[in-house]
Amino acid sequence: MAYLDTDVRYLKGIGEKKAQALNKLGVYLVRDLLSYFPRKYEDRSEFTPIALTLDGENACIQAIVADTPRLVRIRKGMELVKFRAVDDSGSVDITYFNSPYVKDQLHKGQCCNFYGKITFVGNKRTMANPVHEDENTVGGITGRIVPIYRLSAGLSQKLFMSSIRQGLDAAGGELPEVLPESVREKYQLAQAGFAYENIHFPTDFESLELARRRLIFEELFLLACALGKMKGSHSAADGIKMADTDMEEFFSSLPFTPTGAQIRATNDAMRDMKSGKAMNRLVQGDVGSGKTLVAAALIWYAWKNGKMSAFMAPTEILVEQHMASLEGFLGKFGMRIGKLTGSSTAKEKREVKSKLLNGEIDLIVGTHALFSDDVEYKNLGLVVTDEQHRFGVNQRSSLIGKGDKPHVLVMSATPIPRTLALIIYGDLDISVIDELPPGRQKVDTFAVTESYRTRLNGFIHKLVTEGRQVFVVCPMIEENEELPDNIKSAEEHAEELSRRFPDLRVACVHGRLKPKVKNEIMQAFVIGEIDILVSTTVIEVGVDVPNAALMIIENAERFGLSQLHQLRGRVGRGRHKSYCVLVSDTDNEVSEARLKIMTQTNDGFKISEEDLKLRGPGDFFGSRQHGLPEMHVADLCTDINVLQMAQIAANELLAEDADLYKPEHQALRKAVERLFELNADTLN
Ligand code: ADP
Ligand code: MG
Repeated sequence: MAYLDTDVRYLKGIGEKKAQALNKLGVYLVRDLLSYFPRKYEDRSEFTPIALTLDGENACIQAIVADTPRLVRIRKGMELVKFRAVDDSGSVDITYFNSPYVKDQLHKGQCCNFYGKITFVGNKRTMANPVHEDENTVGGITGRIVPIYRLSAGLSQKLFMSSIRQGLDAAGGELPEVLPESVREKYQLAQAGFAYENIHFPTDFESLELARRRLIFEELFLLACALGKMKGSHSAADGIKMADTDMEEFFSSLPFTPTGAQIRATNDAMRDMKSGKAMNRLVQGDVGSGKTLVAAALIWYAWKNGKMSAFMAPTEILVEQHMASLEGFLGKFGMRIGKLTGSSTAKEKREVKSKLLNGEIDLIVGTHALFSDDVEYKNLGLVVTDEQHRFGVNQRSSLIGKGDKPHVLVMSATPIPRTLALIIYGDLDISVIDELPPGRQKVDTFAVTESYRTRLNGFIHKLVTEGRQVFVVCPMIEENEELPDNIKSAEEHAEELSRRFPDLRVACVHGRLKPKVKNEIMQAFVIGEIDILVSTTVIEVGVDVPNAALMIIENAERFGLSQLHQLRGRVGRGRHKSYCVLVSDTDNEVSEARLKIMTQTNDGFKISEEDLKLRGPGDFFGSRQHGLPEMHVADLCTDINVLQMAQIAANELLAEDADLYKPEHQALRKAVERLFELNADTLN
């Protein structure tokens, strides 16, 4: 067996317990360990003469222990070890808190390396709890650039360093070079062995950068190859060839003029549908950009070509809304529109299924129920899925298997920076709707603390009195979740608001209600019978209530930025001036920065780019929202170039050897297969 596939529990220094702690971090085999990259590095490579160290600086010094370390007991449970250390230039007072054993590790006259923070007390230099080791230590934690790993309970930096060292020494020669030499040369990438050595134990920062660049490239390149292969296998499929059709009849029937971006997206898709190959296209557009119209145009186009369409939405409420807007766009042409959801009665289901089988429906709108095994279609030409975060890559492809290769259009409001979208949706062609319908107003957004509660309530009352409606969103109530006191639970918050506003109509929806009840409440809000709707994020996806002019998000720090943006998109859909208020008492800097971004821009792409900068793509990829494998190399934001390069290189390579058949591509092929294996649930 290859050493890389050895279980980490067999490494020196790792027993059953530590192995379990490592497993929790996703580390099972030596190969996982070697791919567990440092979170950051500390530059301890330079020794600074004590006299030149600055107040507040982290410094590495080489000094002699000048007196015998003494144990001082300040009070019960508080022990200090104190001594002075000197070099040619000066001295520093060193203290260890609650580490009595240090007294026996260090002795007068010993020459040691220390690394820690220098603090000036009066005119004296001090260091508290520095790391220390004998000056002659080889491969230690001073005198070099030191990797810092993300830890969990029971693990230490030292353990990571020593076990990774073991792994590299034993398996270094075995590390597969998955990048073909031609690719490595063309893009000037370091070799695998060098990269793994230097990402963990860089000899200098230049080597670290080379290692990082290579590993990021490798990871993205593998993913791009995997997705490229999937795309290749889809688009090789023959599709229904549709004829040229004059769209004027459809477009001139609309109550408004379509935007240029809507027309472009429609044309992109029509080009696919005429090509004879099956379409696989993503239409990406910010909330409110008018994606439904694009779908309607294509459904109409398919109908003109004698084909029926299926439109799938993630929730029943959305099915209702899409039904309404699609009827508005298409009903007047005499198209026959049907509905199928989980809550359709047995009788309704039977009827709809028989109509679908007999070709008596031109458009069916529904939830997942549309694609259960017992539903058969006659003449299915187009499948539209309104993705809105909810469907992963795998569900998309399960639709494609239905009937004889219908065209597939995926709509997504997840604003992903374009460069990332290239990879995340690498198996689809992309059209971006980058223009909002005219006259859209910006939603004024405010981030406030609890101390604004009274004013906020006043504002709610004023708006409702003017005839507007209000959304209030609270963080999700998980089943059995113990909510910290400050987290608003939707139900409690709704009760509080009803007490506060006895004259207003307050209702609450959350995920634990039966779909039917949830639906009734949502409908009541849509037709204006409720003034304030308190909810968990069930309203996140697409409901259209043009009269709603205020979105309040409680404990806003608990939401992701793109989620906040989606939620905000629920208001500002009518002609009324609209507002979004983010309530949060967080004092976490990153959370504050994220909320601030919301107050500064309404542009979803910009928000996601800023989010990317704040969180790093490690998180972005790690969130699994997109249904892709987790990435290991964090902090890609500065590496958008590498991302693009990897994409281009993958395309070039697949163009030359689509099946990765050539001998020089075997290592790559294995790695791609491994990626598919590990992610069988998402990549298929
Ligand atoms: P989303 O992209 O978020 O799904 P929708 O398709 O729900 O957006 O459209 C949002 C609103 O904008 C709808 O009420 C729709 O009728 C309207 N709309 C769409 N396109 C236009 C347009 N070109 N001009 C004016 N209003 C439009
Ligand atoms: Mg929509």
